[in-house]
Amino acid sequence: MLDSTPVKDPRVRFDTRSPFWLELRRRIDAHLAEPGREAAGFRAIHRKTIVLFAALGLGLAIGLATTSIAIVLAGGLLAGLAMAGLGMSVQHDGGHRAYSRNPAVNRAMAAVLDLLGASSHVWHHKHGIAHHTYPNMLGADEDIELRPLARMAPGQPHHGFHRAQHLYMPVLYAMLNLKWFWWDDYRDLLRGTIGDTPIARPKGIDLAIFVGGKVVHLLWALVLPVAVLGWPLGLAFYAVMYASCGFVLSLVFQLAHCVEEAQFLQLPPHGTTGTAKLELDFARHQLATTVDFAPDNRALTWYVGGLNFQAVHHLVPRVCHVHYRELAPLVEACCAEFGVRYTCTRSLWAAVRSHFRWLRRMGAPDPVGSDVVERPVAIAG
Ligand SMILES: [Zn+2]
Repeated sequence: MLDSTPVKDPRVRFDTRSPFWLELRRRIDAHLAEPGREAAGFRAIHRKTIVLFAALGLGLAIGLATTSIAIVLAGGLLAGLAMAGLGMSVQHDGGHRAYSRNPAVNRAMAAVLDLLGASSHVWHHKHGIAHHTYPNMLGADEDIELRPLARMAPGQPHHGFHRAQHLYMPVLYAMLNLKWFWWDDYRDLLRGTIGDTPIARPKGIDLAIFVGGKVVHLLWALVLPVAVLGWPLGLAFYAVMYASCGFVLSLVFQLAHCVEEAQFLQLPPHGTTGTAKLELDFARHQLATTVDFAPDNRALTWYVGGLNFQAVHHLVPRVCHVHYRELAPLVEACCAEFGVRYTCTRSLWAAVRSHFRWLRRMGAPDPVGSDVVERPVAIAG
């Protein structure tokens, strides 16, 4: 089974017992403990799982049942959107052990990612541990590392072509899944590190899921369409499926972390000890580096698996996402009482605009040296 022990970065220490966090956690727990709430949540995510798998099957059936290029592409688009939905609403909860109270069910749902082409083992280390423990920290959060293609955060090296990153990144977002599935997973395992952090190589059942997932995925996602439709149409189906899935997954992540309202931190150099270590309040750090968006958009909330309530997700990742919409007002109210920063962009469009303004800003050369921050100081807003 997956190793759940976080690899602690010795350069930073989190305070997880601040009065603000203890009080917020108490309110969240009290809300979730109301009779019937947890069971209703699990029923909701089970229904959603069926709908999304059905949508993936329907996309495949539509795309492979014809030689009409328009219908093949429409089927690929539906399959890709369903893949992204499964990633955000099923695999993500399983990977965070929020899908069920049964560990085996959570592991099975986490392995949906392997069925979709990417390794749940690598994801666990890259997202479940590195990103969630150290969001928006340079050198520790691999999810903000798109170098050299893009500069997503202050302190990352700037290249001249980054001036145009707000124009070309949407195209690359559509291609990032391919790189992730067919290159990054193997590279990370061969190197044995994610960013600066060592990761365990998969053994036993985890190794079987890694290898089996890659093979099964290759069979249904590429070999089957090519066998049924021939090379040109089969590849077109595969390309559209991956482009739509990759674009959605990349953009949803960016809207929560790489926007003007989010903060970024630079870790002290390796070898830092004692008082030079970065001392952070766990909850305040999560809230400073993460932004909610479009809280009133119910359809979006359903589709993205509550990831528009990313601040809530980062505070309580082991809570099933179907509860996030109800928890967000609790978080906002508690933040207001304790004077803690909570940021929410009111609409999807406003979040998209903020992300592209951020890309333009990071694409411009630094006016004076590096603008890396060493403490949780607002860069914008
Ligand atoms: Zn997560």
